[in-house]
Amino acid sequence: INKIGVLTSGGDAPGMNACIRAVVRTGIYYNIEMVGVMKGYQGLIDNEFIPLPSHAVSNIIQRGGTILKTARCMEFKTKEGREKAFRNLQAQGIDALIVIGGDGTFSGAEVFSREFNVPVIGIPGTIDNDLFGTDFTIGFDTANNSVIQAIDQIRDTAASHNRLFFVEVMGRDAGVIALWAGIAGGSEAILIPEKETAIESLISKLAEGAENQKSSSIVVVAEGEKSGGALKIAEEVKRRFDHYDTKVTVLGHLQRGGSPTCFDRVLASRMGYAAVKALLNNVEGKMIGMVNNRMHFTELSLAISRHSPFDEELAEIAAVLSI
Ligand code: ADP
Repeated sequence: INKIGVLTSGGDAPGMNACIRAVVRTGIYYNIEMVGVMKGYQGLIDNEFIPLPSHAVSNIIQRGGTILKTARCMEFKTKEGREKAFRNLQAQGIDALIVIGGDGTFSGAEVFSREFNVPVIGIPGTIDNDLFGTDFTIGFDTANNSVIQAIDQIRDTAASHNRLFFVEVMGRDAGVIALWAGIAGGSEAILIPEKETAIESLISKLAEGAENQKSSSIVVVAEGEKSGGALKIAEEVKRRFDHYDTKVTVLGHLQRGGSPTCFDRVLASRMGYAAVKALLNNVEGKMIGMVNNRMHFTELSLAISRHSPFDEELAEIAAVLSI
């Protein structure tokens, strides 16, 4: 392998830049020419490549977002689109690809590598931490820290006014951010897509809290929660339980941005390094993950067909600690 291309795709996540940096520096260390592909798979199709010498990744380890930009690309889901992408790769003389993204990104990588025999390694970069084959994804820790900072700030006003806050956090299909940030933020309840929300028991829990002289309550709601999200649940609760002044805060995209935490920077550095080393050792078609604090490879086909198991113990801890 002489020339490796790297791209970021799907939703952006803090730490992607730290990962690009690690990939580029490791490649250069081993005398490989490094090339960046702009805007994910769209840049492969549109022929948007940029050279990545070592200085191109200076001063980015602390920056959120991705210097390579990211995009969702419908054309890559078609055979014609992928053919165009492959011709451009060939013309560039790129021998292998490293893709940083979520399971959609890996689905694309898996088909592409099978069709055209291109060595690919996937690196999990998503705030959702919902991928099979890794304990953590790049960006999850930073997103959690942004959420608990927001929760702490909301709690100040909640406690001063005897308010009940519903805080909606990201997580369309998985409630992992809600669970972690809910525990860390000392929330009274956590509503997630993996569990049914029983309004009755939520209300009796809030009433109990009020009786135990809690001055405020914070309920963390994952956006994919099945009974309709924070606004709808807050309406329902407000109708049936008027002890508190009820408010809703939807955190939205602030969860995606910001300077990556130490944890995410180190995780990104380890994964970026390991991805290049893997290609040099003829490992391909795999996603790199961290399992029990060790780098670990999972077949891309397996990574995209499974979900990370739901952590029942964390859910139990959240329930016990919020009495
Ligand atoms: P994420 O990687 O964060 O899950 P997406 O689901 O948007 O984000 O996927 C990112 C991109 O990967 C898509 O815009 C598309 O270009 C590509 N992709 C996703 N699924 C497939 C697929 N089944 N076949 C080919 N390309 C795909």
